[in-house]
Amino acid sequence: MRKQIAAANWKMNLTLQQGEALLDGILGKVSSLGKDQQVVFAVPFPYLSQAQQKIAGKEQVFIAAQNCYNKKSGAFTGEVSVEMLQSLGIQWVVLGHSERREYFGESDQFLAEKVNIVLENGLTPLFCCGEALQIREANTQNEFVGNQLKASLFHLSAEQIQKVVIAYEPIWAIGTGKTASSAQAQEMHAFIRAELAAKYGAEVASNISILYGGSVKAANAVEIFGQPDVDGGLVGGASLIADEFVSIINGLK
Ligand code: PEP
Repeated sequence: MRKQIAAANWKMNLTLQQGEALLDGILGKVSSLGKDQQVVFAVPFPYLSQAQQKIAGKEQVFIAAQNCYNKKSGAFTGEVSVEMLQSLGIQWVVLGHSERREYFGESDQFLAEKVNIVLENGLTPLFCCGEALQIREANTQNEFVGNQLKASLFHLSAEQIQKVVIAYEPIWAIGTGKTASSAQAQEMHAFIRAELAAKYGAEVASNISILYGGSVKAANAVEIFGQPDVDGGLVGGASLIADEFVSIINGLK
């Protein structure tokens, strides 16, 4: 049974003290998660250690890094390796967020290498994909997202791909207040699952969680998460407000 996941992406926001207060506020209000539900907090690198300590003993709650490098170690000033993350107890890494692709020029090939090193070290990659507005307007979003998956994920074995969590995040809906309709989200998620099924078979595809991201908030989470191929969300802005994110967690199937 695939997991239903609420993932927070703090991006480059909050001081350590604000982040700790936010985590305390959320964790204090999330009492019981269903056995197939998980919560993930992708926090800035400097806060990983403290955040990891706060979730100690909570089996279905994870801390994620927002990025990592594609090399094991070496002369790469300013970069962070998967081994370093692992040494802090971190189990998840967000890869390929559209902001990384756009502002830092991360290519599909570079992301494929990052996916490999994350999996080799036994961590979970939360792999983001999604199209820009002009691609949606040209109605070529399926081809575009299909190519992103093929280029960065489809070299993986059936066993490996089931360890990946995919987040579909239409760029036109990220931080804009414009959400994809639940029908648009379902349509793309069903397409992604069909592509996975065509490559790996229906059973493998049905085991892979596909999250939706793009202006998810308490008011729309239940409807979006209720779609059959939507397995939760990757949430930016609304994850910075404790009550909002708690409601979003409560909206998981
Ligand atoms: C994101 O950061 O991945 C995101 C979806 O942001 P927001 O929820 O603010 O649109």
